[in-house]
Amino acid sequence: MATACIGIGSNLGDRQAYCMDAIERLRAAGCVILKISSFIETEPWGLTDQPPFLNGAVLVETVLPPHDLLKLLLSVESSLGRIRTKPWGPRCIDLDILLYDSTVVESSELTIPHPLLHTRAFALEPLAEIVPDAVHPLLNKTIRELFREVHQ
Ligand code: ADP
Ligand code: MG
Repeated sequence: MATACIGIGSNLGDRQAYCMDAIERLRAAGCVILKISSFIETEPWGLTDQPPFLNGAVLVETVLPPHDLLKLLLSVESSLGRIRTKPWGPRCIDLDILLYDSTVVESSELTIPHPLLHTRAFALEPLAEIVPDAVHPLLNKTIRELFREVHQ
């Protein structure tokens, strides 16, 4: 069993319903949902000319190794009707693996910790609520510290 933090975002349609539905689908697929953060409204990042996001995070327990967990997240995104247009573009649901135990993964389709995690307040804020003392395995800083650094 591993514990993973999954970032959840949506900026199209009924954002809250998409996020809650995604959590239910993860549960139905066998993930044990240990913690659910608050969901916060955030301004779009990267591509700024799009609707605001709802962002949150969950802590899950899973038997799936990292690449299988990614496959599950992508299948939940598809099952909720996500259509990929452009990078950082609008989406009804986005599920990212932020942390997976203290595992580091670097492959063409998967990078853990998520490569932009430490730069994104919208990902760090919900994460700091559910796992403030988790340590970023490459930066050796806690999520609380990393959030403080971007939240000046
Ligand atoms: P983004 O979330 O950066 O806006 P997408 O959701 O469109 O981008 O994901 C594009 C690809 O990013 C996925 O198909 C996946 O292969 C890759 N990826 C790399 N690392 C991760 C990660 N930690 N979590 C989720 N996807 C990842
Ligand atoms: Mg994504």
